[in-house]
Amino acid sequence: MKKGIFSRNYPSSPRSSVKREIFQSSALLALIVVAVFSVFLSTILYYSEISKAQAVINRTNRAVTFSLKAYFTEIINTIKVLDENKEVRDAMSLGNEARQRIRDEYRSFSNANSHITYLYSGYKNGLMLINDYTLPAGFDPTSRPWYQAAMAIKPETSIGLPYRDISTQEWLVSTSRALKNSAGEYGGVVSIDCSFEQISQLIAQPEEYKTEYSFVMDRSGNMVIHPDPALMGKSLQKMAESIRSANQGDFTYQVNNVTHLAHYNRVASTGWTVVTLVDKSEILRPIITKMLLLVGLIGVMAVLLGFVQGVLLSRRLSQPLVELGRKIKATIAGEVEGVAAYVYPNNEIGIMAREIGQLAEKALIAKTQELQASEEIYKSILMASPDDITIADLAGRIIMFSDAAPEMFGYSPEEGVGMLIMDFIHPEDHARARANIVKLLQDNHTGPNEYRAIRKDGRCFDIEVKNALIRDRQGNPYRMVLIIRDITSRKQTEQQIQLLVQQLELERDLAQRNSLTDSLTGLPNRRFFDNALRAEFSRHQRSGSQLSLIMLDVDHFKKYNDHYGHPAGDDCLRQIAQTLKAVVERESDFIARYGGEEFVVILADTSLQGALALAARISKAVSKLALAHARSDVSDFVTISLGIATAADHVLNDGSQLVSLADQGMYQAKMKGRNRCEVMPPPS
Ligand code: GH3
Ligand code: MG
Ligand code: MG
Repeated sequence: MKKGIFSRNYPSSPRSSVKREIFQSSALLALIVVAVFSVFLSTILYYSEISKAQAVINRTNRAVTFSLKAYFTEIINTIKVLDENKEVRDAMSLGNEARQRIRDEYRSFSNANSHITYLYSGYKNGLMLINDYTLPAGFDPTSRPWYQAAMAIKPETSIGLPYRDISTQEWLVSTSRALKNSAGEYGGVVSIDCSFEQISQLIAQPEEYKTEYSFVMDRSGNMVIHPDPALMGKSLQKMAESIRSANQGDFTYQVNNVTHLAHYNRVASTGWTVVTLVDKSEILRPIITKMLLLVGLIGVMAVLLGFVQGVLLSRRLSQPLVELGRKIKATIAGEVEGVAAYVYPNNEIGIMAREIGQLAEKALIAKTQELQASEEIYKSILMASPDDITIADLAGRIIMFSDAAPEMFGYSPEEGVGMLIMDFIHPEDHARARANIVKLLQDNHTGPNEYRAIRKDGRCFDIEVKNALIRDRQGNPYRMVLIIRDITSRKQTEQQIQLLVQQLELERDLAQRNSLTDSLTGLPNRRFFDNALRAEFSRHQRSGSQLSLIMLDVDHFKKYNDHYGHPAGDDCLRQIAQTLKAVVERESDFIARYGGEEFVVILADTSLQGALALAARISKAVSKLALAHARSDVSDFVTISLGIATAADHVLNDGSQLVSLADQGMYQAKMKGRNRCEVMPPPS
């Protein structure tokens, strides 16, 4: 058979399909896109968030610096106004009235400006004028730090260290300036102690970040203002040194192992530095959230894009191949009509698939035609068979009925299809038929089995059924083939043969009876003997020749059979017959098996003496055989008794009288103790 292009078996579902591979590479692409975009956008996001944070910190820092500048400008301006006041400068030489005016002025200034807690001036003679405070006795202003600091940097304004007011517990800072009196010498110092409350509030107020705050340190790095009062006065010398180079800038700063982004700004008028910082993790937190959101979004988009690309690519590349495969499968199954027409895409793969599809279709059409032709051949062979070939499913329902079936069962093929196998079998044979079907399915027992079948008209006839199974590709049976032969005529022939055999057996028996020789010993039988005796007796009557007859019988042969068994008995008889043949040498003598274990010898032209001599030789020869006879009461071996009669001595009418005489002699021998020979009548 020619090998077709589809005869090779490829796995029906490949482990990796083009479609799956397209989707896998699309997914990989999506993953790469996610990774690249995530890194790219995260970097942008990071730097934009950091610079935004820097801007926020700068803004806050500028605001605080501005407020601080404004705050101190106001104080310094107030001090300058007082410094220009002649009465304040010369208070030392003025009277009480003027001094009271000064105090009142101080009071009105402090009332007008809410930051001002104390406004006062001290003089080298110990005079002290203050807005609202009762000085302790012996108070010497020249010994106070504010006095000495102002004197030290005169004519500049000194801004001292913050201190905590004993009565209000408020943080205050003294701004003081030396006063030059009318005589042109520095004789006192005017000073304002103002509260930091407002500044502290301002610097502690977070704007955009919760962790944002500012603090202020002086030139030497001492903490001047801090939202946490506990940190006031703390030295930040290192930081101060590191940022000394410029008036403002950004830097990172670690507090308790927490990194902060920071910005500083120096206030020229005071020499103080305003530092604003934000915990970096707070800046990073929204970045991470945004990043995750972004990655998620990109991921979803990439997956969507990947999916769309997968679908598009699969439609353009893999779908034509899948459709081609489907088309080929359908063509093989003969379902081309039912498959919806698929329009291949106008690309290389589409064109190739279309061409392969057409090629496959052509090859399959040729293949199908070839198959149909061979199927036709099989069918015609099937239909030409004189036997009915029936195909049934495993439940026994007939699927195909061959052309021989209608004649056999009387049903047309149309009627037969759909009927059950059992509908055609005699109910008494159903159980056996079912058992044979089970044997077929289990042991592939194909028969043949014989059943009685029933025709449509109800008549019974004999059938012989041979079975076979049709298996699918996996080797599982799914159809039964039954080759059914009408064996009515064979059965009839068998019966006829049976009758013939019986007849032949009867005839064989008859022939045996009619035959002349004895089958056991090969000696002439009784019938032959009777004829021979008749002939011999008439010859004796005609010619007057002598005629003797010996009759002999095995002694206790019944017991021999009983003891040694019948086959041994047969063998014994055969040996005695052989002995007789050997001993009786004359051509004219005639030996016969008279019946059972009795033998006769016709001795033509023989006198009594001759007969007696032969009888003696026979007896001797038999005893010489030495056939053991354990049950004989005559001898240990087989013996015979003989009777002799001679025709010349008597007037006889026919041969049977001679036989009778010899028989009587033999009887006498038995009577006298066996193993002997007697003549009848006894010679006188
Ligand atoms: P006896 O003659 O000494 O009086 O005793 P017997 O036992 O021989 O007596 P009988 O003549 O009555 O028995 C003959 C037996 O011989 C009976 C039968 O079983 C046996 N016999 C006859 N024909 C055959 C034969 O063809 N084969 C065998 N094995 N035995 C036979
Ligand atoms: Mg006998
Ligand atoms: Mg006997």
